[in-house]
Amino acid sequence: MNANYCRAMINNMVVISAVEMKNIANKAVKLHNLSPVAAEALSRTLAVAGLMGKQLKNTTDYMSITLNGGGPLGSITVAANGKGEIKGTIDNPSVETEFNDEGNLTVANAVGKDGKITVVKDIGLKQPFVGTTQLVSGEIAQDFANYFVVSEQQPCALTIGFSWKKGKCASGGAVLVQVLPGCDPKLLFDIETTLYAMDQMSYQFANSTARQVIERFFACYDGLTVTDESFVNYKCDCSTKRMQRLIRSLGKDEAMDIVAEQGKIQIQCHFCNKTYNFDAQSVQKLFEN
Ligand SMILES: [Zn+2]
Repeated sequence: MNANYCRAMINNMVVISAVEMKNIANKAVKLHNLSPVAAEALSRTLAVAGLMGKQLKNTTDYMSITLNGGGPLGSITVAANGKGEIKGTIDNPSVETEFNDEGNLTVANAVGKDGKITVVKDIGLKQPFVGTTQLVSGEIAQDFANYFVVSEQQPCALTIGFSWKKGKCASGGAVLVQVLPGCDPKLLFDIETTLYAMDQMSYQFANSTARQVIERFFACYDGLTVTDESFVNYKCDCSTKRMQRLIRSLGKDEAMDIVAEQGKIQIQCHFCNKTYNFDAQSVQKLFEN
């Protein structure tokens, strides 16, 4: 199978990363039974999780993104770890599709424009990094481009596209172009020109790998070097251990109250729908040491 993620650099001044998302989008649609507009919104956000997750340095690093624009879809939550695993969920997966006058899905109406993006990165430091920015359009790509500039002081361009056929993703992916400090102005000018040509992203990714998409636009630059070609997967890393920690965080009184009421504690993972059951005895045991 071809790698669905690729990162390349131009003369150590520009970093280009791309993720091809068809299979991941289809997995999310199936898992969460997403309406068309929910599928588009969650897939766009998952694409960002794929790109940002791949920038984590260690396999134990972890990050989550919450995007809430106050629209009918509610919160979109995605997470990624340093192993290239991503997952996502959306509050209201069955929100009906809204089309604009041109017949296109209007993601901004469903996401809402009045809200924010919150990114939490746990990279093994004492405190996790937390970055927040206001949404600028509700279309997701522009909102994250703004996030990178404002919160991480990282000038960039981000373009995301998906196309759908009978409720399934036909093609899709995202490309992120980041300009490093001290970039040669001539190179920057050329890059900007290239960025203008990068549209119809869903078609760019049809039958193309992430690497092929990058090379299609940037092979003309001297010094383009591919630095990573690997995989992003939709995989939930929930575990009994993590759920036990969650129960412990409730405190003994509240946990035992739930057991008394319901005979057990049942937790369903929002990201993969897996159900975990803890009977009275196992809950009791969690609070023994
Ligand atoms: Zn899970």
